[in-house]
Amino acid sequence: MDICPKCGLPKEACICKELAKTKQKIKIKTTKRRFGKIVTMVLGIESDTKEIAKKLKAELACGGTVKNNIIELQGNHVKSVKQKLIELGFDEENIE
Ligand SMILES: [Zn+2]
Repeated sequence: MDICPKCGLPKEACICKELAKTKQKIKIKTTKRRFGKIVTMVLGIESDTKEIAKKLKAELACGGTVKNNIIELQGNHVKSVKQKLIELGFDEENIE
């Protein structure tokens, strides 16, 4: 059985990840790239960044990349990204 090193509970019972999610301060912003292209940046997600990026890309049907835990999505998706992150268990109050 896998035990979580943080709380000592079996992995299935562990809520560390969920707790961590609600504590992470997340920032969503847009920035302009070359040729005036808008990208949406999601900063502050500390774990499962690639997994979350994959979900966001599928949901929003857009391209994107992950670099140094920063998710970049093509286009302006600030509102829908926020909505989606809340659905994924992040705390709305911590999303800027
Ligand atoms: Zn745990």
